[in-house]
Amino acid sequence: MRKKTAAIVLAGGKGTRVGRNVPKQYINVGGYPLIYYSLKAINDSFIDEIILVCGEDDREYCSTEIVEKYGFTKVKSIASGGRERYHSVYNGLTSLRCVAEGEGNDPCDIVFIHDGARPFVNDQILERAYEAAEKYRAAVVAVPAKDTVKLADGEGFAVETLDRNRLWLMQTPQVFDFYEIYDAYSRLISEEEEILNKGITVTDDAMVLELFSDLRVKLVNGDVRNFKVTTEEDLELVGHFL
Ligand code: C5P
Repeated sequence: MRKKTAAIVLAGGKGTRVGRNVPKQYINVGGYPLIYYSLKAINDSFIDEIILVCGEDDREYCSTEIVEKYGFTKVKSIASGGRERYHSVYNGLTSLRCVAEGEGNDPCDIVFIHDGARPFVNDQILERAYEAAEKYRAAVVAVPAKDTVKLADGEGFAVETLDRNRLWLMQTPQVFDFYEIYDAYSRLISEEEEILNKGITVTDDAMVLELFSDLRVKLVNGDVRNFKVTTEEDLELVGHFL
């Protein structure tokens, strides 16, 4: 019997690196806005419900032009994004909790946190991540580094070669026991200033556990096609893969 699952799908970024005036998650590719693809994969999967996180000003658009238009019936709520990705995740987790409490339910056992800008998440990835998260309470989809990775100095000269056999590139979904990740994020938000003062930049969810929990995060094989759209050439790649 599967545990109760929910997904937070993030579409709260500005996506400025793509260089268009529409945030990257709404750019039309293959006849649909980019965010459609990850929502479709998750809506059609075993995951029970979805919280979509988007920019405050885009909530109406997301509600009518995406959720209603494409019949994403598992979307229970649309939350507002925040300044950084981690603010958006925290808002999504809080919304998930509030919606469930309003219905007199527990939020979920396992929460998937997924970048809406990764259109090629699929059932196999979701299944592998679920199994590992059920077993280890924290699991992150990732791919082993294939290229050699070097550290550079401030002037762009290579200074050190990292051991490639131990390097993994993080993807999403990142999947956790709900209360473990909710507690870690709550601490991050209340201790944000100290974290920023230490010069730490929080770039994924596993990192929040590294900072505020002893739980070990299991790495699960992702897929090179599960890339995140960041630049114009990534959009071209989406077109090719579709
Ligand atoms: O900016 P980046 O590509 O790392 O964003 C990863 C995902 O997080 C994207 O789907 C983006 O929409 C989302 N995001 C967000 N809120 C932010 C920044 C990014 O929901 N403040």
